[in-house]
Amino acid sequence: MTPAPQGPKGGGMIAAPPADVLDRLKSALGPGGWSEDPDRLAPKLVEWRDRWHGATPLLALPASTEAVAAVIAICAAAGVAVTPQGGNTGLVGGQIPQGEILLSTERLRAVRDIDRLDDVMVAEAGVTLSAAHDAALGAGRRFPLDLASEGSATIGGLISTNAGGTAVLRHGTMRALVLGLEAVLPDGSIWNGLKRLRKDNTGYDLKQLLIGAEGTLGVVTAAALKLAPILASRAVALVAVESPGQAIDLLIAAKEATGGEVEAFELISRLGLDLAVRHLPGLRDPLAARTPWAVLIEIASARIGAAETALETLLADALERGLIVDAAIAQSGDQARAFWALREGQSAAQKPEGPAWKHDVSVPISAIATFLETATAALAARFPGVRIDAFGHVGDGNIHFDVLGPAGGDGAAHAAGRDEGARLVHDLVASLSGSISAEHGLGSMKTAEAEHYKSPVEVAALRAVRRALDPGRIMNPRVLF
Ligand SMILES: Cc1cc2nc3c(=O)[nH]c(=O)nc-3n(C[C@H](O)[C@H](O)[C@H](O)COP(=O)(O)OP(=O)(O)OC[C@H]3O[C@@H](n4cnc5c(N)ncnc54)[C@H](O)[C@@H]3O)c2cc1C
Repeated sequence: MTPAPQGPKGGGMIAAPPADVLDRLKSALGPGGWSEDPDRLAPKLVEWRDRWHGATPLLALPASTEAVAAVIAICAAAGVAVTPQGGNTGLVGGQIPQGEILLSTERLRAVRDIDRLDDVMVAEAGVTLSAAHDAALGAGRRFPLDLASEGSATIGGLISTNAGGTAVLRHGTMRALVLGLEAVLPDGSIWNGLKRLRKDNTGYDLKQLLIGAEGTLGVVTAAALKLAPILASRAVALVAVESPGQAIDLLIAAKEATGGEVEAFELISRLGLDLAVRHLPGLRDPLAARTPWAVLIEIASARIGAAETALETLLADALERGLIVDAAIAQSGDQARAFWALREGQSAAQKPEGPAWKHDVSVPISAIATFLETATAALAARFPGVRIDAFGHVGDGNIHFDVLGPAGGDGAAHAAGRDEGARLVHDLVASLSGSISAEHGLGSMKTAEAEHYKSPVEVAALRAVRRALDPGRIMNPRVLF
């Protein structure tokens, strides 16, 4: 469970492939299609928080689906392992190779098509999320997946981790946003499943198997993505509430009042708000009331002015009914961005406080209040003085339950309790029928922990699927079951 640095820092390296395999790969990829240059490789071998360090004998840089297929076919025939990498923003270490061939999608950057009639964009795996946003906007549409790593995270990585983000409440995770896929399977064959259908009820769904597979069932090379209408109005407020229970009551009221136009509903703890104001330049808390919790709510509508009216009516009604204590509605785009910065800056604001135990968990929405109350009490009893910074996509039941050490305490001593704390939190999550990884995946960090909680029947079935598609276990062998 502890994300100990791996590879040169931590061991577990895969043996180097034979030289003739490397020669065949280089000749299949051609000039500019591969690299062994340490400076070129370096940023791809370290995870952005410096938690995982890796190594690779060769960086493969295929520029077409056919070139990806050639690489995988050579590796499959020789039993050589491959790790795909997109933007290297993954949070569980799955993209950092430990001796495998590193296959980067950075040259698969084309938006192949945007169709306004089908409301579909076909984008290659290496297109970044912000480039996909721009392309959709340019065609008068929106790709409704929003997360803070959008400048680097790629379509292939987002699909392979089934990414979520702040708009899942309304639009779903990548599972709901992908209509079709093109992929290279672990034997090197190309599957063209780039359909644009909203309905396709023809048995097992291969694309859903590849979504969230973290690179273990093949390389995603392109996807047909669902587009949404451009928004004509957005309204954002920060709302003071006394408890997570009150936040959930407000969520229910917001869903009922807006007819599905709640774009985001994020919980922030008092500690989280205070840390953001203390450590992040230029941020301030716009709320007069210092309640234990706050909610960031965004209403968005395709109708001009509708979001502002809906949010104002909702909050006035909630105040009158005693559902909320206080609210600040953003009066400009800049103010809305400043409110969002309080939420999105949560991880950065924790850093100066020392190491944090991070838990990316989900429980049914009805169990959020119980989870927060019980987990907080159990940790306080076992680890006196720890500080809980819980925040996240509460509208999806997804809480980032982060545990900081006592203020001014010994960071190393706090870090030592991480595994025991995680077991305590995850046991509670399991007892509430939740998940120990709501949106970041398992990677090399959480696979063993997930196996602990999944039933042996499920794990055996998942292994059988993997064996059937990748009998040599060449695709991302350190990741998943
Ligand atoms: C600041 C920040 C905020 C974030 N917020 C969120 C959030 O709100 N919600 C969320 O869900 N995630 C979030 N993430 C996590 C991360 O951005 C996502 O996991 C993202 O989907 C990874 O995309 P990537 O291109 O960087 O993939 P990488 O990190 O390169 O790879 C991730 C995994 O996918 C595999 N992979 C990559 N490309 C392919 C491909 N083409 N075919 C097959 N396998 C592939 C890799 O082998 C690896 O296992 C955040 C990360 C950061 C740094």
